[in-house]
Amino acid sequence: MRITIVGAGFTGGTLATALASSYDDRADLCLVGVAGNFGCGVAYGDARGEHLLNTRAGQLGADPAKPAEFAQWLNLSTHAREAFLPRIAYGEYLLDRLHEAERTSANLTTLEHEVVEIDRLPAGGFRVHLDDGASFFSDVVVLAIGALPPQRLAGVGPRLARHWRYIASPWQDSDLRHITADDRLLIVGTGLTMIDALATLHRRGHRGEIVALSRHGLLPQRHLERPADPIELPPSILQALRGHDLRGMLSAMRSVAQIVEDWRALIDALRPHTQAFWRGLPQTERARFLRHLRAYWEVHRHRMAPRVANEVDTMLASGQLRIVAGRLLRAGVAEDRVSAVIRRRGSDEAETAMFDGLIRATGLDTDITRTTHPLIQHLVATGTIVPDPLGLGMQVSASNEVLDARGRSIPGLYCVGALARGESWELTAIAELRTAVSTLAKRLRQHTNMRPARSEAPSPRRAGPKTA
Ligand SMILES: Cc1cc2nc3c(=O)[nH]c(=O)nc-3n(C[C@H](O)[C@H](O)[C@H](O)COP(=O)(O)OP(=O)(O)OC[C@H]3O[C@@H](n4cnc5c(N)ncnc54)[C@H](O)[C@@H]3O)c2cc1C
Repeated sequence: MRITIVGAGFTGGTLATALASSYDDRADLCLVGVAGNFGCGVAYGDARGEHLLNTRAGQLGADPAKPAEFAQWLNLSTHAREAFLPRIAYGEYLLDRLHEAERTSANLTTLEHEVVEIDRLPAGGFRVHLDDGASFFSDVVVLAIGALPPQRLAGVGPRLARHWRYIASPWQDSDLRHITADDRLLIVGTGLTMIDALATLHRRGHRGEIVALSRHGLLPQRHLERPADPIELPPSILQALRGHDLRGMLSAMRSVAQIVEDWRALIDALRPHTQAFWRGLPQTERARFLRHLRAYWEVHRHRMAPRVANEVDTMLASGQLRIVAGRLLRAGVAEDRVSAVIRRRGSDEAETAMFDGLIRATGLDTDITRTTHPLIQHLVATGTIVPDPLGLGMQVSASNEVLDARGRSIPGLYCVGALARGESWELTAIAELRTAVSTLAKRLRQHTNMRPARSEAPSPRRAGPKTA
């Protein structure tokens, strides 16, 4: 019996660790991920010192049964458990867990490769193809590949897209190296990715003007230094949740937010219910949420650490940072600078402005019909995976089984993470991911107990002794 996990970020690494610690030696586990951020993924593997977690350290254990594990690993005091620590520390914790699982488990293999194709076999199971031409059989495959690589921003011309003045990923040092302190910058997107970009620019002593543009021009809200006391949801909200009543929910939340000590406690109390609420919403209501409420939900739900929020406030107060609500219509290279055509929200007039750099900070890409990701392109082309109608990844069941075009689950194929958002909506942060991983691990354990070991499956080659 072989289980292959594709993608070695938080989700893949945590699933491999959970399975390795509980499997008997009939099951063969293979974790395949790309080098560079193996074991940590983009969020924790590509982070820099100034990038902070947006969750308090005391709640970040990778196993939902041990929420304090990260804080214990760092030996944090009670007071320090409420702090927002650098994300690289979390990456080290994840790697340490994975290395421990590798040391103690004989059946976990790690491969530093990209999976480029997965073929469904007529007799059951899958053939997994790697980027070096090798392939192997697997009974079960879990897609844990996070979000898709960022596509070029709409309106950005091909010349600018290849130019160093277009920065597709604000986390890559190499991409930012040409930016000088007095450059005038345009950042498209005003969510937490933009906040990461600001943190890096601030750390580098940036002095030039920064214009941050998004349709609504909303900034993430800030966390409080000390969390507000938890609250219980009142009957008006529970009733809206049970009835999957989006309008009723909005109106109940508006009323309750007026009377609770702090609205953050209300959002936090809602979190355990959001997946079930989303699942019960008809597609039309989901589409309404995405069109009208998503931006407001995101800024209240995904909040900034207080220290970062203070830096942003300073930049806003000095006039260095301007937030603009509007759309980027076009951007190209002119006189070796970036010429951007912007239309402000509510205006019919387009205005052209010149910048020294354009940073893309538009958040998660999950549209599998418009991606350059080779594996996803292959799975779409072969009809193995079917797009979510709202662009939120692929169609999966409530237990993360991938669904085919007729809505039937494909035995042995699972997807967890951002590409399964269509089913769960909230499936991008640690709290929801770790629960989904733990549930899937339990299910896979049952799956292997029900099936005999396969003796003919060839072994994938092991990566070097260290995985990252
Ligand atoms: C910048 C950032 C900061 C975040 N901060 C927080 C936070 O503070 N708190 C919180 O709760 N949540 C946070 N999140 C959300 C969440 O924790 C992360 O998104 C989470 O790490 C997602 O993990 P993942 O494994 O699903 O995806 P990823 O981390 O993206 O990992 C997927 C991995 O799969 C690899 N991969 C893709 N395709 C293939 C392939 N074909 N073959 C092999 N490998 C492949 C990718 O290269 C990547 O390494 C943050 C997210 C981001 C993006």
